[in-house]
Amino acid sequence: MRTLPQSARRQLDEAYAFSTVTPHLADGRTIETVVMHYDATSRSRARTTICVSSQVGCPIGCSFCATGRSGFDRNLSEAEIVDQFLMASRKLADAQRSLTNVVFMGMGEPLNNYAAVVGAIRRWAAPDTLNFSPRRVTISTIGLVPFIERLSAESLPVNLAISLHAPDDELRSSMIPVNRKYPIAAIVGAARAHAERTGRRTSYEYVLLQGVNDSPEQARRLAGLVKHRLSHVNLIPMNPVEGSPLAPPSKHRSQAFQSVLQAAGISTTIRATRGLDIDAACGQLRARQPQTVLTPA
Ligand code: SAH
Ligand code: SF4
Repeated sequence: MRTLPQSARRQLDEAYAFSTVTPHLADGRTIETVVMHYDATSRSRARTTICVSSQVGCPIGCSFCATGRSGFDRNLSEAEIVDQFLMASRKLADAQRSLTNVVFMGMGEPLNNYAAVVGAIRRWAAPDTLNFSPRRVTISTIGLVPFIERLSAESLPVNLAISLHAPDDELRSSMIPVNRKYPIAAIVGAARAHAERTGRRTSYEYVLLQGVNDSPEQARRLAGLVKHRLSHVNLIPMNPVEGSPLAPPSKHRSQAFQSVLQAAGISTTIRATRGLDIDAACGQLRARQPQTVLTPA
């Protein structure tokens, strides 16, 4: 803004930031944001999806997740969430690409930072900002029931992904402590109500852990739980987490699990793992390496 006097420019500079996140190579408070390109297929158009973080660390502490194991630092602000999108967009513009989808599947539990997450989604959606439809946004949650209900009451047609991971409460509570407070039936009930209210499909995420939750009998129980016309199951063979004894099942066993669900009439995919080579796959984000992408300024 060279047309403004220098004193005014200085004042603006001091009072406002163009971005609250910057690429940074330091320890301290860091988050990770991941951009994924998917080429067009016969059934779908090309997509560029950004996986955003909502918190620095995560307070939920799931046994199979690197983010959970590294503890919780703080919530991100609405601006820090908004800016992950803006920064990625600027970088993609150089390659003449733009973001088509957002998933809250980075670090943190988005419904544990409800106001900032919903605020960011509304800001992306505003016609005078990006006009980016909430229909292109997915919130992934471990199942904080009161916040799922609150989300359904907003007129916000976002997609919900429920991280289910177990077909019974005893097992789920051993993997995800907060399940004692919000058990499976309550979570599935709230997700179903959201799907019916918005018409948006619910994805149930299920991390496959060898010898823990990967038997055909467990697949049958899972099928019984999630059966609904708007349900989809996403199977995610566990990505390795340093220091964890948990491991993914063989390909054969994952496919057998999928077959049981499909035979029960449930649409199911096995998620192709991406980002393993740079520790950026699901459940591996913990901002420990100096290759970390963003840091709140
Ligand atoms: N806290 C939210 C959002 C993070 S999403 C949630 O849990 O839903 C991260 C996704 O990756 C979730 O579905 C989570 O269960 C999954 N995940 C966590 N650890 C993983 C691992 N080691 N391998 C594969 N997926 C994992
Ligand atoms: Fe948090 Fe989700 Fe990881 Fe559980 S899986 S610790 S809720 S980020």
